[in-house]
Amino acid sequence: SYVSIKEMIEDVVDRFSFKCKQKSIDVSVKIPKYLPKILVDRDKIDQVLDNLFSNAIKYSEKGKITVSVRLEQEKLYVEVADTGIGIPKKHLSRLFERFYRVDKARSREMGGTGLGLSIAKEIVKAHHGEIFIESEINKGTKIAFYIPMSERNVKKGMAINEGKS
Ligand code: ATP
Ligand code: MG
Repeated sequence: SYVSIKEMIEDVVDRFSFKCKQKSIDVSVKIPKYLPKILVDRDKIDQVLDNLFSNAIKYSEKGKITVSVRLEQEKLYVEVADTGIGIPKKHLSRLFERFYRVDKARSREMGGTGLGLSIAKEIVKAHHGEIFIESEINKGTKIAFYIPMSERNVKKGMAINEGKS
């Protein structure tokens, strides 16, 4: 269905707001005022947002999470940036493999299966997009994905947010 990415992001942020408060994590959301609705598999994209955001929380102590959306060259980019523990460079290329987790000890106590990012990658691929990661140990992690915006999947004549920012 045609979805508002803005609403989906706000819903994810709401779902985790208690957890963020508990961990003293500030969340900021940056979304352009006009954003067309886009045709996606809502449940799947929700799963991607959920995993990226929950990872950012899991692997942060205090700090800040910024979720931002931008339109660039007919691509809708969503980026989740945290100021958490980061990921050593040598692991970055394998993170999207199934069951891959950076460090058994630090991951075990966090729970999870190590499937989230590999599933996210599959879902983004199924939407003809790509997913990227950048990270610096003890500084934080940025994960961004895009979904192409074409005549095929963008709702025509629809300025979303209806004037609200
Ligand atoms: P699941 O998502 O299945 O519950 P998971 O979160 O461990 O488990 P992934 O989401 O696939 O699995 O992430 C893989 C690994 O990448 C994590 O175990 C963690 O080591 C590392 N990782 C992912 N996101 C971050 C992040 N934002 N900051 C630091 N490390 C991260
Ligand atoms: Mg995860």
